[in-house]
Amino acid sequence: MRHRIAVIGAGPGGLTFARVLHRHGLAVTVLERDSARDARPSGGTLDLHTGLGQLALEKAGLSAEFEALSRPEGQAMRILNTDGTVLRDWRPRPDEQANPEIDRGHLRDLLLGPLDVQWGRGVTEVVPGSPDGALVHFADGRQETFDLVVGADGAWSRVRPAISSATPRYTGITSIETSVDDVDTQHPDLARLIGEGSVAVYGANRAVVAQRNSGGHVKVYAKFRAPLDWHTDLERNLGLSGRASLDLADAEAVRSSLPALFDGWAASVLDLFRYGSAFVHRPFYVLPVAHTWVHTPGVTLLGDAAHLMPPLGAGANLAMLEGAELAESIAAGGDLDEIVRAFEERMWARAGTWARLTADGLERLVSPDPAQALAVFDEVQPS
Ligand SMILES: Cc1cc2nc3c(=O)[nH]c(=O)nc-3n(C[C@H](O)[C@H](O)[C@H](O)COP(=O)(O)OP(=O)(O)OC[C@H]3O[C@@H](n4cnc5c(N)ncnc54)[C@H](O)[C@@H]3O)c2cc1C
Repeated sequence: MRHRIAVIGAGPGGLTFARVLHRHGLAVTVLERDSARDARPSGGTLDLHTGLGQLALEKAGLSAEFEALSRPEGQAMRILNTDGTVLRDWRPRPDEQANPEIDRGHLRDLLLGPLDVQWGRGVTEVVPGSPDGALVHFADGRQETFDLVVGADGAWSRVRPAISSATPRYTGITSIETSVDDVDTQHPDLARLIGEGSVAVYGANRAVVAQRNSGGHVKVYAKFRAPLDWHTDLERNLGLSGRASLDLADAEAVRSSLPALFDGWAASVLDLFRYGSAFVHRPFYVLPVAHTWVHTPGVTLLGDAAHLMPPLGAGANLAMLEGAELAESIAAGGDLDEIVRAFEERMWARAGTWARLTADGLERLVSPDPAQALAVFDEVQPS
């Protein structure tokens, strides 16, 4: 029997789900709020782990294409002290394939392939339990019903309220993200500082991370502990005397204020902010660590919609593997509701483990004691 299946969201999770179904010759409706595939910048780089994201791509039949697009050298990781001295300088062996990096845009294009995404179809609400299936309401007022609606619509999911009352909470750690273009030719000092992969600098309650994407493009992240409204009063919220509010939409104001947040840090590190083109404020939110829900026929969640966690290299990997596993199970046949129920149990168990690991990791990486961050690196980095 052919089921009417919709996935909401064309991120890594939703696209992997759709691509694996497509590989098995099954139809799926992909509904995405963005107006077009290039409606907004695709974001930074993702490391895809063997056994997680790479396994998902194998299930989608895309391993060879991934190998051609990915950057194993991007696994290189350097840790600096705030004075700029090198504490760790890890470089992968040439055959190291544990966590190669891929630009998000490249991954999205790879997954999109032959898929027919319906762009500009923002979902506002999903109502399970109608006689004809789960009812999807769109921002343009239209409605459609499906036998199964998969919410892969990210942190602020509009599908989630149909089955769970959980909402993301702020972790107390925020970030400002910027990017530098053409680093090798325009900023060779920065290129040397960053190396082939990433450089991270950890101070008390502060961290700076710069990460190479392909084509000499670098993403830079300033992370720090602060109340959510820290920018409304820098003196009160961050102890920066004589500084009032900061307009986060004013790139020049953000650029010139960031060094004060990293007072006493090496100039070579602070230079990472100097050439940033735009600055995006990205507070870190999470769902409860062991988020589950009462199984509801016709609707489920995967990826960030199900288990938003700190951005420490797991979220896209989990979303992709979940998408691939659910699609494979559906393709194998059987009772659709039982398949979804079993999928949820498996997802909750695995995501719970990762949610605990990443919550603990974030606390230690942006910690009052920077030695904690170094310890995290030593625990996870292959020797
Ligand atoms: C700075 C940073 C670095 C990261 N690095 C890594 C990494 O190296 N490795 C890793 O595994 N993870 C990483 N992550 C986490 C990762 O980005 C997410 O976990 C992952 O993108 C989740 O995928 P998803 O498909 O569940 O959701 P998303 O990627 O959020 O995709 C959701 C999609 O749904 C669409 N959508 C949203 N609302 C609606 C709606 N109402 N109707 C229709 N469509 C809608 C959105 O437009 C989007 O296309 C990082 C995150 C950040 C912030």
